[in-house]
Amino acid sequence: IKGFFDKRFACYDDSIRKKMIMEQNIIDTMREALEREDFQVYLQPKVEIGNGRLMGAEALVRWQHPQLGMVSPGDFIPVFEKNGFIYALDQFVWRKACEIMGRWKSEKGAFIPVSVNVSRADIYHVDLPGVLMKMVEENGLEPGNLHLEITESAYVSDSRQLLPVIERLKELGFIIEMDDFGNGYSSLNTLSELPIDVLKIDLEFLRMRKNVMRRKQIMRFVINLANELRLQVIAEGAETEEQIELLREMGCEYAQGYYYGRPMPQDDFQDYLSKQTISEAKVL
Ligand code: C2E
Ligand code: MG
Ligand code: MG
Ligand code: MG
Repeated sequence: IKGFFDKRFACYDDSIRKKMIMEQNIIDTMREALEREDFQVYLQPKVEIGNGRLMGAEALVRWQHPQLGMVSPGDFIPVFEKNGFIYALDQFVWRKACEIMGRWKSEKGAFIPVSVNVSRADIYHVDLPGVLMKMVEENGLEPGNLHLEITESAYVSDSRQLLPVIERLKELGFIIEMDDFGNGYSSLNTLSELPIDVLKIDLEFLRMRKNVMRRKQIMRFVINLANELRLQVIAEGAETEEQIELLREMGCEYAQGYYYGRPMPQDDFQDYLSKQTISEAKVL
């Protein structure tokens, strides 16, 4: 038994050490990385379940690190949020997203809105609305073309500071999406306080291993609530036909997940887009 615990402890210790080395490595290299454009913006389709039509895309950042290889956002976003680098990175991603849509618009081909992630740390930055507005205008877009995904935890951390910023963004015409709804920081209060347009149900809801009945009931409740509030509701993380069937049966109209498509590099997404029928769905 002693050996077992020693081994477990050693393993734990090692993973913490690895994590620290990785964090330091990330911090040391991120500035150059932004200059060298080691960061890439991938796009993942959002689809109308009823007819399989494309209704939007989410921009997701990827980091091709010279030593660590492809680092997942789950590993570096939290580090960047801690050390304040996130705002520089997010601006890079938002600009790319606007440039992509600007190109679609000027080429008069298929056009869909693109959603970007806005970290809670970005919210506190002076004149976030002004910065976003400028990017939109520079690319010949309307604010309504750019959807802003904000995680629920961001709302909870300080709603007094947050509310005026979200209200201003909304006033300007940006579409506000609440990301990861139901994960950890659930608060029905935020639904009544914030002027959101879209509710994204966290992908954990579809990973039902325990309490399956109960989780299904909660999901059904959330979908009904969103429909009642006239919010567009998008389920995240749908991977299988069965999950799509379940969502359809629950009245969830939209989904984003591997079933429809993984996040893709821009060129691949361009090919994909040219073969799609575009949904007529409008944000309510
Ligand atoms: P998110 O905003 O909730 O994005 C959805 C995540 O779910 C993405 O992970 C996507 O690849 C993943 N996903 C989509 N469909 C499926 C599926 O069917 N199965 C599974 N297992 N996963 C699926 P990703 O790209 O690793 O990003 C993780 C998180 O990192 C994002 O969660 C977001 O919170 C954050 N993030 C990503 N890009 C950015 C960015 O540019 N800025 C900021 N601030 N955060 C970002
Ligand atoms: Mg998101
Ligand atoms: Mg998120
Ligand atoms: Mg999410």
